[in-house]
Amino acid sequence: MFLCLWLAAGLVAQESKKRPPIIDVHVHAMKVNPNFSSPMCPWFLSSMPGSGPNQPAPSFVNLDCVDPLQPALSDADMQEKLLATAERLNMVLVASGDPEVLHKWHAQAPDRIIPSLGISNAEQMSVEAFRDSLNSGFYKVMGEVAPQYQGMSPSDMSLDAYFGVAEELGIPVGIHMGTGGNGMININNPKYRASLGQPFLLEDVLARHPKLKIWVMHAGYPMIDQMIALMGANAYVYVDLAGFIWSYPLEEIHAYLKRLVQAGFGKRILYGTDFMVWPKLLETSIGVIENANYLSEDQKRDIFFNNAVRFFNLDPSQFE
Ligand SMILES: [Zn+2]
Repeated sequence: MFLCLWLAAGLVAQESKKRPPIIDVHVHAMKVNPNFSSPMCPWFLSSMPGSGPNQPAPSFVNLDCVDPLQPALSDADMQEKLLATAERLNMVLVASGDPEVLHKWHAQAPDRIIPSLGISNAEQMSVEAFRDSLNSGFYKVMGEVAPQYQGMSPSDMSLDAYFGVAEELGIPVGIHMGTGGNGMININNPKYRASLGQPFLLEDVLARHPKLKIWVMHAGYPMIDQMIALMGANAYVYVDLAGFIWSYPLEEIHAYLKRLVQAGFGKRILYGTDFMVWPKLLETSIGVIENANYLSEDQKRDIFFNNAVRFFNLDPSQFE
């Protein structure tokens, strides 16, 4: 859920020619609520100290930096800035969330937005309504599925019929696994359980739906061993880097990403942000990958683009 001068200079230098495409597989389309959007300094989730349960919860975002990312001021401001950035950086965004916002973004930039339908519990939408929505052709992806925030395993049988529909229709599914941000239980998600983000909890879903294409959102952070074991055992599971790519300390982000690549899964990592309200977050997160000196240029292109083209069955020529 969350620029530096050198990065700005680099982007300006490249703008004279068309930039190589980037697919952000994890974008949230939401209405701007001025009461719940504040500026934010990236790479802040190191400790979040709070004095105790009887004191007010500590602030989730950090404002202690020279140039915090500013939130969009209105829905129109958000749409204008986000789509202008996507155009300038030659990006395609897999986006889920508020249907009204999503339809507006898609109407303005149909080639830049891939709509995704998120279901995290059976109360949200019946299986029939879910099937109808996917059959309408607007939605190409299922996600973000986030049962963890409700204290539920992704293999809970109440979600099984939805995964069955996605499997039958060949719709790829993104499931939230792992971090929800430090202190989430104390701040606003009392039902969230860290243990329900264990990548191994996906094994039953995968066994029941062998043709389902799943990507693990947030790469199961910080449970790297389970993530590597799950990807090893299940040849078609991918991960995205969303959320932790801009919220945890940079050294920790790079250690996690490096381990995934070192383990041999460089072809199964998708680039994603968890974009919410700060338009400059797209550039901030791209810079993390561009500056990863342990990745070759080919590995960076895989993460930014090639892996997502393969996973979502996209036509690469549409990006030329
Ligand atoms: Zn998530």
